[in-house]
Amino acid sequence: MTDNMIAWDLGADRVLVLTMDDPNQSTNTMTEAFARDLTATLDRLEAERDSFDGVILTSGKDTFFAGGDLNLLMNATPETAPQIALGLDTYKAAFRRLETLGKPVVAAINGTALGGGFEVALATHHRIALDAKGSLLGLPEVTFGLLPGAGGVTRTVRLLGITSAVLNVVGQGQRMKPAKALQVGIVHEVAATREEMFDKARAWIAANPEAAQPWDVKGYKIPGGTPSSPAVAANLPAFPANVRKQLKGSPMPAPIAVLATAVEGAQVDIDTAFAIETRYCANLICGQVSTNMIKSLFFDLGTINKGGSRPEGFPVRTPEKVLVLGAGMMGAGIAYVQARAGMQVVLEDVTVEAAERGKAYSAKLLDKALRKGAITQDKYDEILGRIHPSADPADAAGCDFVVEAVFEDPGLKKKVFGEIEHLVNADALLGSNTSTLPITDLSTGVQRPKDFIGLHFFSPVDKMPLVEIVVGEQTSDEAIARAIDYTLAIKKTPIVVNDSRGFFTSRVIGQFMDEAIALVAEGVHPASVEQAATQAGYPVGALALADEINMKLAQKIRRSLKENLLAEGKNWVDSKAYPLVDAMVDDFERPGRLEGRGFYEYDADGKKLGLWPGLVEKYTRDDHGIAFIDMQERMLFAESLDTVRCFDEGVLRTVPDANIGSIFGIGFPAWTGGVIQYINQYAGGLAGFVARADELRAAYGDRFEVPESLRVKAAAGETLG
Ligand code: NAD
Repeated sequence: MTDNMIAWDLGADRVLVLTMDDPNQSTNTMTEAFARDLTATLDRLEAERDSFDGVILTSGKDTFFAGGDLNLLMNATPETAPQIALGLDTYKAAFRRLETLGKPVVAAINGTALGGGFEVALATHHRIALDAKGSLLGLPEVTFGLLPGAGGVTRTVRLLGITSAVLNVVGQGQRMKPAKALQVGIVHEVAATREEMFDKARAWIAANPEAAQPWDVKGYKIPGGTPSSPAVAANLPAFPANVRKQLKGSPMPAPIAVLATAVEGAQVDIDTAFAIETRYCANLICGQVSTNMIKSLFFDLGTINKGGSRPEGFPVRTPEKVLVLGAGMMGAGIAYVQARAGMQVVLEDVTVEAAERGKAYSAKLLDKALRKGAITQDKYDEILGRIHPSADPADAAGCDFVVEAVFEDPGLKKKVFGEIEHLVNADALLGSNTSTLPITDLSTGVQRPKDFIGLHFFSPVDKMPLVEIVVGEQTSDEAIARAIDYTLAIKKTPIVVNDSRGFFTSRVIGQFMDEAIALVAEGVHPASVEQAATQAGYPVGALALADEINMKLAQKIRRSLKENLLAEGKNWVDSKAYPLVDAMVDDFERPGRLEGRGFYEYDADGKKLGLWPGLVEKYTRDDHGIAFIDMQERMLFAESLDTVRCFDEGVLRTVPDANIGSIFGIGFPAWTGGVIQYINQYAGGLAGFVARADELRAAYGDRFEVPESLRVKAAAGETLG
């Protein structure tokens, strides 16, 4: 019995169009039912082979094929993994039958085809991608801790060669627009319209009646050579080393498994290669890292990017004309992402020259995009033409949205809002990109605090995917909805947090740096401290980060925070890190990269040279007695416990916001699936996490005290979220 998921339409021209269209779902996915239908379709194709001259495989959905069922993969256990591996083998067998049908098969890829969805297309002889809006192609499995297990690694290696397949497709999981996919070589043609796509498909079938995959043609050789050919053999030993170098010791198994699959599979026949691929894939599927990464980087991120935290009842409203106050590093970046998203931007600074400099930043980024062929000259002119530099507040007229990015000074921020509030539209949203100042306090400077909100961007704005939306006491739900609409329109991910000092991200990242700096002060070699962080999976060491953020700034923020909290009668505990930070700033005059002197030395261009030897001379002691795992877990636990406190204090609102905010905003190791997932999946579950935090507290101090809320949940055998 079949579920009629693949429509069969044989034309008078003897071209058979197979349209994949699962009637039970909005997208086509690799369900068991689909596998049954695919097998039944292949039976019929083979039986009726003489009735058609070629096949066009396409989809009845907006997307071509959505790939594997990630819910199933996320919940896989060592017990269910064999069943999943069997499923992969079923697909592999079906795809193999398709590519050896003896008739030309063309994939007319009418929309996004990622992961398993693209593996379907790889089993055809010719791939034509429609240049549809938002359409993405590729094999991103590695970004979920997996590898493409339905023939994806095996076929891309045979198509492109080991190096290109690993570097450009499977090793980093790039999601490519059709033009890029063509350039990389995973599709053969791009069509501007559906009609053109089908015309091209028919023409290709007519011209290639004997089509076969290159690897099924006698005399085929893997492009670039197999691992035993001299050119590849010479470089092969460096491959895993390079992957490990990129990973910086992070415990992510997928990139290494991808490489092993590619290299081992390239030395054997295709069926053996498929078996190798299945084995590596099944291992990853039943591991914890893929569960973590699917949970946060697919499901949590999906929830957020669908506007999961958006208050209901307000129509979607994206800005048309935005006033950006301050054309410095952040303002210039914010202007750029807005202009790229089609918004008009008034970029205001104290002088026209400063505003022009801010606009020049966009020109620089656009020059690069133009050189790479990512945009046309027309597009370049259009985007740059949307940015209007100004030093005249009167130019704020007609703006329906404001993003303020002047210096981090509450008085100045209130002043600039006061200057423009009556000039912009009467209901313009008033956003501030402060990184630390409480939003509720800043909103006392405006007439409409309900429309005032924090829009905390990260640097560099064009690259960093997160915006932390900060809700003040008076901020309205409508303002939150508008801030989310804006963030999604500029193609960033919005997390929503309630107002507090340092919000979620700035506050929690401070724990990471304090812990690392305290370790140096306690005698640990700074290189070990950096290694502890990167081997735990942090993208950069905490000392490098402290240099980047600048310790003078950190010192200033900490001092004013301490003063304010003490004035409010609240508790303040000094960290062992602070005397060292103070010494770095005041005694050694080494505040960070900006000055060319911090924990690291820098050359004149700001390039990091090496750790400052003075640090070792003055602080490092061989008898510090701190185990490497303790170094790592002090950083991870300090951030985790503070995140739990953020929930207790009502700063954080949802688990997806915490997980995604921690990975995208503060570099919490991605393999953990984010900070809450890290706590939940710690060995022994919550109870195990609590017991370990108690140990750290006994050894290192009260900052590892377990919040009562966590202890109660652990005792009840629950998880967070
Ligand atoms: P910056 O010093 O590069 O830029 C500030 C700009 O504001 C300068 O060009 C200055 O001329 C301009 N300015 C000052 N007074 C003004 C006025 N009255 N009207 C118009 N413009 C005025 O600073 P930045 O790094 O871009 O930071 C800006 C804001 O963004 C700060 O609040 C900062 O805390 C926040 N922030 C910074 C980062 C970061 O990584 N740098 C990250 C997130 C948020």
